[in-house]
Amino acid sequence: MKHQHPNRVTPPPADKLLFTPGPLTTSNTVKQAMLRDLGSRDAEFIAIVQKIRQHLLELAGVSQAGGYEAVLVQGSGTFGIEALVSSVIPRDGKLLIIINGAYGKRIRDIAQRHGIETVTLEVAENTPAVPQQVSESLAADSGITHVALVHCETSSGVLNPVQEIGTVVKKFQRTFIVDAMSSFGGLPLDVAGTGIDYLAASANKCLEGVPGISFVIANRAQLLASGNAARSISLDLLAQWQGLENNGQFRFTPPTHVILALHQSLLELDEEGGVAGRAKRYTTNHAALLKGTRRMGLREYVPAESQSHIITTFLFPDDPKFKFEEFYQRLSDRSMVIYPGKLNEVDCFRIGNIGHLFEKDIESLLTAIEATLTDMGVTIFNKSPNH
Ligand SMILES: *Cc1c(COP(=O)(O)O)cnc(C)c1O
Repeated sequence: MKHQHPNRVTPPPADKLLFTPGPLTTSNTVKQAMLRDLGSRDAEFIAIVQKIRQHLLELAGVSQAGGYEAVLVQGSGTFGIEALVSSVIPRDGKLLIIINGAYGKRIRDIAQRHGIETVTLEVAENTPAVPQQVSESLAADSGITHVALVHCETSSGVLNPVQEIGTVVKKFQRTFIVDAMSSFGGLPLDVAGTGIDYLAASANKCLEGVPGISFVIANRAQLLASGNAARSISLDLLAQWQGLENNGQFRFTPPTHVILALHQSLLELDEEGGVAGRAKRYTTNHAALLKGTRRMGLREYVPAESQSHIITTFLFPDDPKFKFEEFYQRLSDRSMVIYPGKLNEVDCFRIGNIGHLFEKDIESLLTAIEATLTDMGVTIFNKSPNH
């Protein structure tokens, strides 16, 4: 019997909705943009890469004329973070990492693995970082050269006060590194006005592309001054930028299909009204989600005033009949994919609002959650709202 690809016989099943922090639900047109084989040295591809870099700078509210560069880095978001952290901090530098979740810890782990001297400032996972504490840390240690902050800590959904912390970092004339992975494109951010020297993000979160490419928005003077600080070849950020500048090409094979999808996703972001338009949809999603989950009695981990509209963490219902694995699987069987928790202290799960999802999708999810809890016989006793 001749082998046939199953998709030739029957169409693929409809995708489940992904209420996750990435990979996420993407539009059909973003997926269709990948149905091309384009050479990485083809003039058309080089032009697309150039357009994307320009577009990313615009989204960041900066420009090449204003002294900023967009450097694309192959790989998931962590590759972009690692390229950044391992390339721009000099051998005698010292990095202060503000930590209130798993992604802050990841920056610390990356820095330590590369032998970079670190100090950390930790606050509880459901609490935003405190600018005054950053100020005290910097005042106490003149050896700190760089400060790293996660904008939206995706492990809880807490939003950190990037503007206020940027002001502190600039007052002490240190270099400011921001992991804006889960916020870039979905939350307005004035990169230059916030004093951000380096920002890392990726294609598959609020930009609604597919995974496989990350990027760094960099202050050019700072990047040039970092010289030969890079600790690896493939993640050498300065060399990557110089490669892109010299001939418009990547040093090593780029994920061409992923880049085509990113290009399409940026056009769709524009069509939606840019960052403001996208933020509006996510805000609507988040509000619809909370309205429904509060009605059911589910409790949020992060206080309302510190939550982002990106992702929300819910505490497990206080009923022994609630088993997360079963809850997850039953929702998945209803074509709704949620996300496990990523916190040290509490049992929780997460629901993302980002991706090509709309209020009607949130309503479908809420209906599925309610039916699933009923099927499982889970009773939520605390029906009063938690805020
Ligand atoms: C998603 C994310 C990352 C990168 O994760 P990858 O799995 O490597 O894409 C880094 N930081 C934050 C805040 C994130 O949300």
